[in-house]
Amino acid sequence: MNSAKSRSGSLALCALLSAISASAHPGHSLSDATPGHLLSSPDHLAVLALGGVALWFAGRFVQRQLPRRLLQGAGMAAVLTAALIWGVRT
Ligand SMILES: [Zn+2]
Repeated sequence: MNSAKSRSGSLALCALLSAISASAHPGHSLSDATPGHLLSSPDHLAVLALGGVALWFAGRFVQRQLPRRLLQGAGMAAVLTAALIWGVRT
């Protein structure tokens, strides 16, 4: 029951994240972009930060401690990475 619930939650989260990243930058997909472009474009950094916030927020709804820590840790890491890259490039 509980694991089925969290599985459907993570499926929804994956769908959400891929929807966000698919619309990250009109005109190209993530696989077309060079790493340099991904790291220097504000659009992609914003998507990374938004995805991180979404992960962290999703973690709040997870009851079990380990998945919650993982989600919130990954979300925090994504936001911090975006902030760091933003700070370096400006
Ligand atoms: Zn792009």
